[in-house]
Parts: sequence; C-alpha cells; structure tokens
Amino acid sequence: MMRIDQYSILLQKAIDAYSSLPGIGPKSALRLALYTLRQDKEYTRTICSNLLDFVENVRYCEQCHNISDEPLCSICSSPHRDSTLLCVVESVREVIAVENTGHFNGLYHVLGGLISPMDGVGPGDLFIDDLPERVKRDGIKEVILALSTTMEGDTTNFYIYRQLQDLEVKISALSRGVSVGDEIEYADDLTLGRSIDHRIDFEDTLRR
Ligand code: ZN
Repeated sequence: MMRIDQYSILLQKAIDAYSSLPGIGPKSALRLALYTLRQDKEYTRTICSNLLDFVENVRYCEQCHNISDEPLCSICSSPHRDSTLLCVVESVREVIAVENTGHFNGLYHVLGGLISPMDGVGPGDLFIDDLPERVKRDGIKEVILALSTTMEGDTTNFYIYRQLQDLEVKISALSRGVSVGDEIEYADDLTLGRSIDHRIDFEDTLRR
C-alpha cells in the first residue's frame, strides 16, 4: 500500500489509529479515516470523549467483578435477583450472553479468565479464591459452572469444584453440547437458555 505519510502525516496517524483496532485492515482504516473527516467535528469529539470516559471511569463490581459504573453492579444490587444462585463465567462477554437468554435470574461470579498453565495463568491471577468465601458468606445454594468446554475451561471447572466440594452447595454445569466462551457467538440465546434450564450435576460430568 502506498505510503500516505509522504503527503499527510496527520492522515497516516488517523489510519494507524483505526488499523490498531482488531479486525481493521489498512484499507478499512483509510475508509474510516476519510469518513471521519467528512463528519461534523462534534461527532468525533463525542466518540473520543465517550471512549476516554469509559476507559477512565468504568470499574469492576466489588462483589461479582462484572463491569460496572458503580462499586456494586446493577445485577448485584437488584432486589429482584435470586441471591442464592450463582453463575460462574469467564468474562463480561459471558455475563451479557447469559443475560440475553433471559433464562437466568441469579447473580454472577466473573473469574476474569481461565486457568491456563501454558500461558502462565494460575488461580492467583483470577477471582477464584474469593469464591468459597462468597458462597459461605452469602448463603449461596447453587453454583452453576458456565465456562467454555476447552481444556482451560475444564481445568478451571475442576479447580473450582475442588474448592467448593466440602461446602453445602450444589454444583452444576451447563448441559453439554453447548459451550460458552470462545464459541459464545455461535451459541444462540435459545440454545444457551435451554442449557441453563437443563443444567446437570457437575459430578456427573466427571464420570464421563
Ligand atoms: Zn456485581
């Protein structure tokens, strides 16, 4: 591709900014840069200030580690949710996916990743060790493990199971055939919703 910085370093910088985004190649970046130029300056100002506001002020819920604007997220602070039911997910993306099904009315526990020895990610790097405490303190009756069906997901499920197995809490897993996580975009709301409704005892998944 022709080097644009020969005649406009400013345009090159705008292209560089767009092409640093995932999935945006140089051609799309050029198109977006020129599109931006054609818009009202207020349009770009609003986008930039909203993004900056987001990265500077968004936080994580003190209880479930979901993304939140307040110390406690809107799910944790809702009086309409079943606070004895906990769904363990990898990230904010899975919270959104499970919420979209409309089949879950409990609370979440967002791990912030999965255990992956290959990538040097251990339980200490995730929000795992506060889970048993939370189960005891908040009188949780059931924990649903909704992690991806990858090796990392299985490892993490088993680690959590070991941490919780001596507590008085039911541990379930999504019915197999549906995975959340990497393949979340392919699991439609209805399928994911069904697998929550038909969840199974986690110990049954260990015998297979
Ligand atoms: Zn929360």
